[in-house]
Amino acid sequence: MDKVDVIVIGAGVVGLAIAAEVTEKYPQACIALFDKEQQFGWHTSSRNSEVIHAGMYYPTNSLKAKVCVEGKDMLYRFCDQYSIPYQRIGKLIIARESSEIPHIEEIARQGELNGLNDLVLLEQADVAKREPHIKAVAAIHSPSTGIIDSHKLMAKLEQKFNAGENNFIAYRHEVTNVSYNGNEYEVTFKGPDGNTDQLACTWLINAAGLWADKVGEWLGLETEKHGSKIYWVKGEYFGISASKSKLLNHLVYPPPLKALKGLGIHVTKSLDGRARLGPSAFYVDQINYDVDDSHGDEFYMAAKSYLPFLERDDIASDMSGVRPKLQSPSDPVKDFIIRHEVDNNLPGFINLVGIESPGLTGSLAIGRMAAAWVLL
Ligand SMILES: Cc1cc2nc3c(=O)[nH]c(=O)nc-3n(C[C@H](O)[C@H](O)[C@H](O)COP(=O)(O)OP(=O)(O)OC[C@H]3O[C@@H](n4cnc5c(N)ncnc54)[C@H](O)[C@@H]3O)c2cc1C
Repeated sequence: MDKVDVIVIGAGVVGLAIAAEVTEKYPQACIALFDKEQQFGWHTSSRNSEVIHAGMYYPTNSLKAKVCVEGKDMLYRFCDQYSIPYQRIGKLIIARESSEIPHIEEIARQGELNGLNDLVLLEQADVAKREPHIKAVAAIHSPSTGIIDSHKLMAKLEQKFNAGENNFIAYRHEVTNVSYNGNEYEVTFKGPDGNTDQLACTWLINAAGLWADKVGEWLGLETEKHGSKIYWVKGEYFGISASKSKLLNHLVYPPPLKALKGLGIHVTKSLDGRARLGPSAFYVDQINYDVDDSHGDEFYMAAKSYLPFLERDDIASDMSGVRPKLQSPSDPVKDFIIRHEVDNNLPGFINLVGIESPGLTGSLAIGRMAAAWVLL
């Protein structure tokens, strides 16, 4: 069996960031990057809000808080260095009525605990100056929240990976099994012709997104016990018409839902100025990216509570993505798993599971963290 130094499973933003970082650390290494799809970012990494989050929601000392706060700064620097389009558009977390003010103040306090020092509490008149068309009695303004062209980010990371002269990418190659023989990992994969083959490696990096729990299972981890079983939580978006999109200047979020199942139906904007509502959050047992038109009323009702100018005809179904969550519907919020599984007798296995939001924001920080374990 042929052998390489490192195999990365998954060419989403996380796998690409790790692969690029290991390449920078070891330019002579031989690294193989596998993805079952024809191109990078086919799943969650191209089906999200493209928001560079500031990091105020996540529990103190969680990996989510750490990689978000560190990753945001790294991402802005990376964008400047490589001319990746982005905009520090800023975000308002609004209180629609005074009873919601303690909730948004609590979010601001959590943000400060997470190391943010730029959050400002705006009174009604100041909110009106920034967003004259929305209904809010107060808001937290986060000036460092931004939006990014995630496709260009991934293209740059892929290019950095390809700069490693011994590296190669195998798109349309699905990893179907992995085993560990006490010395190296043996990876079985199926190519586009349907034939299977094997490749060994010293370091195995699992960045398989929605299917990342399978990789652990192949290696004998009992995912329920280990806490790495993935639940799929779909989020749909409805687009706002161009004429009404122009009435919004920031990303606008109502207070988040309990247990961070989702952030509530909020407004995001893309770099071309289009505003969208969403994503919603509901558990699914199949991956299917269709958007159910009949959900439009629910979006409309949720948004109308703070976008009084909106009419039902102003919104239309747009796109969807699926979150790889570690929490079942009855669980409290769970953190990312980013681990070198040496304690589970799998030295060399770097396991990333449950990388939902803020995984795009945190991608470069996750890349740095994972690459630090790799020693060649
Ligand atoms: C609705 C929604 C909105 C979001 N909004 C934001 C946001 O605004 N800001 C933010 O920071 N984060 C956001 N996120 C989170 C962010 O998108 C993810 O954290 C990030 O994209 C995860 O990247 P990934 O590389 O881990 O996964 P993915 O992009 O899913 O990549 C995993 C890859 O692994 C491949 N793969 C899986 N199994 C195999 C196999 N057996 N063999 C070969 N290849 C395999 C897949 O084809 C896929 O390409 C959002 C997520 C969702 C769902």
